[in-house]
Amino acid sequence: MKLLIIEDEPALSKSIAAYLAGESYLCEFADTFAKALEKIALYSYDCILLDLMLPGGSGLKILEELKRQNKADGVIIISAKNALEDKIQGLQIGADDYLAKPFHLSELTARIHAVIRRKQFGHSNLIKQNELEIDLLAKSVQVKEMPVLLTKKELDLLLYFIGNKNRVISKAALAEHLSGDLADMLDSHDFVYAHIKNLKKKLHEAGCDSYLKTIYGVGYKWEL
Ligand code: CA
Repeated sequence: MKLLIIEDEPALSKSIAAYLAGESYLCEFADTFAKALEKIALYSYDCILLDLMLPGGSGLKILEELKRQNKADGVIIISAKNALEDKIQGLQIGADDYLAKPFHLSELTARIHAVIRRKQFGHSNLIKQNELEIDLLAKSVQVKEMPVLLTKKELDLLLYFIGNKNRVISKAALAEHLSGDLADMLDSHDFVYAHIKNLKKKLHEAGCDSYLKTIYGVGYKWEL
């Protein structure tokens, strides 16, 4: 899962990212209004943590821009200003949640998890698709009630496919999802292919139907 931390206090961004890395979230950063606008225009995130008072402008303007661009990224406002009107305005513009600073990182993590679950998987911690079952909290996968051991990247890919089912996803988008903006610097996106090959093999060997289709020359699609 890929997150963007829009926050101008470096100590806070770093501690959030360090904590979330342990929960296998990949974090990117923007510490000014201008950098945040650039990031949201170029990339998509599973969830964005949005500070309101930023050098160069207000976080609420960034939220408006996300909505104007019809972006589906989850947004949690993190703000020291616990002003009621900001909170209401943020939620009205379309933020998914609001957390006042200071907060516990464990609470932030639980809220990120809830936003992603609500957006992508319709409220449940348990995703069931015929013979395939994924427990989002335990991060475990079963096919026909037998466990399938996936690596973090394979599970991440599987969730990304299911969260975007019946949509064609390009190799470049998958590379970006797995490695963030580092993907721009990589010459080849072949590492994506290796992870997908392993994921397909493990699911197939466990007796799972082949929902993951290769759309030649374009990308991949999870068909249901
Ligand atoms: Ca700030």
